[in-house]
Amino acid sequence: MINYDVVVIGGGVAGYTSALRFLEQGLKTAVVSHGQSALHFSSGSIDVLSNSPVDGKAVRAPFDEIDRLTQQMPEHPYSKIGRASVLESLQWFKQFVGNHGLPLNHNQSLENHYRIASLGSLKATWLSQPYVFPLDFDYAALSSIKRIVLVSVEGFRDFQPEIARAKLASMPELEGIEVRVVKVGLDAAGLETRNCHEFRSIDVSRLLRQPQHFSQFCSQLRNVATPNDLVILPSLLGNGDGLTLMDKLAQETHLRFHEVPTMPPSLLGIRVEDTLRRAFIEAGGTLHVGDEVTSGVFRPSGEQLSLACIYTKKLKTVPINAEYFVLATGSFFSRGLVAGLYKVTEPIFDLDIATQGSRDQWYSERFFSQSSHPFLSFGVETNQHFQSTKAGRTLENLYCAGSILPHYDPIAHGCGGGVAISTGYKVAEHVIAKSSLNTIPDAISEQKKGEMA
Ligand SMILES: Cc1cc2nc3c(=O)[nH]c(=O)nc-3n(C[C@H](O)[C@H](O)[C@H](O)COP(=O)(O)OP(=O)(O)OC[C@H]3O[C@@H](n4cnc5c(N)ncnc54)[C@H](O)[C@@H]3O)c2cc1C
Repeated sequence: MINYDVVVIGGGVAGYTSALRFLEQGLKTAVVSHGQSALHFSSGSIDVLSNSPVDGKAVRAPFDEIDRLTQQMPEHPYSKIGRASVLESLQWFKQFVGNHGLPLNHNQSLENHYRIASLGSLKATWLSQPYVFPLDFDYAALSSIKRIVLVSVEGFRDFQPEIARAKLASMPELEGIEVRVVKVGLDAAGLETRNCHEFRSIDVSRLLRQPQHFSQFCSQLRNVATPNDLVILPSLLGNGDGLTLMDKLAQETHLRFHEVPTMPPSLLGIRVEDTLRRAFIEAGGTLHVGDEVTSGVFRPSGEQLSLACIYTKKLKTVPINAEYFVLATGSFFSRGLVAGLYKVTEPIFDLDIATQGSRDQWYSERFFSQSSHPFLSFGVETNQHFQSTKAGRTLENLYCAGSILPHYDPIAHGCGGGVAISTGYKVAEHVIAKSSLNTIPDAISEQKKGEMA
């Protein structure tokens, strides 16, 4: 038998946010996670709210929009948390990740900024890494740019600069700014004979760690771009070493970069996950990596249920016990939810699910539809504190965080990272408050426990 204060199931941004808060409060914490998180596919920027769930319009000031949501969509995770706590959680995250070597920036005004996506479109986001050049909503930042240069790395297929160039060149906001593609080569022995599947961003980043290839890359970039250009660079540096090489590249070339995510694996997102994982281990957390939670044992707790222990694929019959559990196993993408022929289920504990209609109503007719696909808003039903339910009974010590939650669409409304961080943080705050009540005298705590149940 293994005992912890808290076990977090799922090592994505939601799970790690919770787990790191628990460790900060001295709780003995484990994370069990079996695969890569959605960060490996993401831009590494944290979207708070890019489009309004109320009317679909582009959002400039996401925290003002959260106020509107609270009144009009009370089930949305942001409505359960409230504007002030969402902001607090994101500021904690920014500071925490920054203290661990990955600075993140947002606008002073707390408004969204734009980043350039890999196909050349502008995406509104809230928190970005230092080499994701933040374009403000009024494009004032573009006034200092004479030319946009997109870097094409010979043989690298996971970024197609010509498509991005065409999109950027067609934008009225960029009228008068030259947009061109420049080619650089990676003159590495054997590279040209490799299968293209072995020539992904992480392969290139490994190569560029070698000083001779790195300095060759720098000198090629110096030849094709100038400090007055905005240099759009596919994210190719930083697998396991954060921003070290990007900083060095900027110093040695004196160029102004805008990193864009490549097709997966996305190094911008991997940097965030690496930082969180490293911080978790440094803070004394236990990581059961590559293991999968398969089931749990429940016991009655008054009207409610509580989760006594969980079992995993690797530990087989050895139970993992904890006072509290956080379920942050993601959505369909990470198998936190599973769609059967007629039913959507949560595969570990068979928790209650919020879905909508029959299977043919789960999705919109058109894949790239303006309106969101309903299935993206399915998830595990929870109460105000994100405690889940099973057959209608509240699970007092099993909380949910991140994209396993229902009533929001991370893609259509651009809020995936923000909801994951704020819900991960919020459930941690609730557990921390509850667990501290268990250590103070009964007479004082009974009333407060009642308030928190
Ligand atoms: C392609 C794509 C691109 C995106 N881009 C952005 C973006 O640019 N900005 C943004 O803000 N948001 C973006 N999002 C949304 C955002 O990334 C997600 O909403 C957020 O990362 C979800 O985090 P999570 O921790 O809830 O889940 P996940 O990141 O999905 O993590 C869940 C983890 O749980 C593990 N797990 C699942 N089942 C088990 C089990 N039984 N036992 C143990 N572990 C288990 C999984 O392996 C995984 O590691 C994107 C989403 C996708 C799919």
